[in-house]
Amino acid sequence: MRITRLHGFDVEDEKCDGCGWRVSKLYVLEDSKENAKKMLNEIGLCAHCICDLLEENDYLIVRDLVKLECPECKRRFLIETNYEGNVTCPYCGELVESN
Ligand SMILES: [Zn+2]
Ligand SMILES: [Zn+2]
Repeated sequence: MRITRLHGFDVEDEKCDGCGWRVSKLYVLEDSKENAKKMLNEIGLCAHCICDLLEENDYLIVRDLVKLECPECKRRFLIETNYEGNVTCPYCGELVESN
């Protein structure tokens, strides 16, 4: 799984690389703001197009993530910061934390 973040940039009347409309804000999916900025001129999309992309590619929307380490197999994994209920390790199934 690759973690990407949605980065928004205020622009001045620039073209969306999807539909070609001129907009004042473009969005890029990248791991870091730095990389997103580099890609802005190539894959910057308007709000409409970025939503289409998210929908068509089955992106999973999660809030900020925290990294937990499984006490059993010592592997690390990410979960939402506002999780509810018990957390089990996705690798070995061990109960890692309970709320
Ligand atoms: Zn567009
Ligand atoms: Zn484990």
